Amino acid sequence: MVTANSIDDLLKATSTLKGSVGFVPTMGALHEGHLSLIRRARDENDSVVVSIFVNPTQFLEGEDLEAYPRKEEADAKICELAGVDVLFMPTIDTMYGKDELKITAPAIRGFILEGTKRAGHFDGMLQIVMKLLNLIAYNKPSNFNAYFGKKDAQQLVLITQMVKNYFINVNIVPCDVVRDSDGLALSSRNIYLSKEERVRALSLSRSLKRATELVMQKEFSSSTIIEEMKKVLSEVEVEYVALVNREFEQIDRVELGNTIILVAARVGTTRLIDNLWI
Ligand code: AMP
Repeated sequence: MVTANSIDDLLKATSTLKGSVGFVPTMGALHEGHLSLIRRARDENDSVVVSIFVNPTQFLEGEDLEAYPRKEEADAKICELAGVDVLFMPTIDTMYGKDELKITAPAIRGFILEGTKRAGHFDGMLQIVMKLLNLIAYNKPSNFNAYFGKKDAQQLVLITQMVKNYFINVNIVPCDVVRDSDGLALSSRNIYLSKEERVRALSLSRSLKRATELVMQKEFSSSTIIEEMKKVLSEVEVEYVALVNREFEQIDRVELGNTIILVAARVGTTRLIDNLWI
């Protein structure tokens, strides 16, 4: 595995890659969720590139940019063992200059749910993903696939739109949410949770399980499902519970095969999100 910290080193390393390239962008503190993306990229491509970069432009004032877990050595080891060919770990100065051109998330999909709770987050996320995709595309892989988790559903939908709107030559591959055995969706932020908070955090996945039960009983009304989910979420501070279609438009009724049920909540000071695609 080649580890590149500069753009020159990255382009030198990717110029030697043969065939299709699978790319997995991350912010590090790698867990099984990230690994599932890396393994899938490994299975489906000739070469695999992973990036680790805690992107400052997607953190808002007062969020956890400084506290965000950084485990570069362990992450590099994990990537090496997973058969990654190139690991890109740039510094902030490598990725950003002064007075940069900005990307603004689209008005409708970008300014609901996460977009209002974390205004500006998606602009910064799209900016870094655009930069990273362009860098990996630079040496023209024969086939370029980028892997993103459904865990960040709105992010995935917005990246898919950006790739379409800006004619970027990459296939976006959505990957299933990976959970701990007790149901908690894996997240680098789970390490912030105390023992007691971790127990309360389980109510997010439990609320989605409750939604599944309701849908199986043919209860398709969004408002009823949201009401029932909120009962399960009584011990956490709910930010939103919502039902949207795959275009991220809020829907009044479940459309089987075209619905995402989303929940965001604070457990203590930790903000968690989870969702279910049905
Ligand atoms: P992050 O490091 O949080 O920016 O995540 C990097 C990528 O891993 C994103 O595409 C996430 O959606 C994905 N990811 C994070 N957690 C999970 C999970 N539990 N299951 C599947 N994918 C995940």
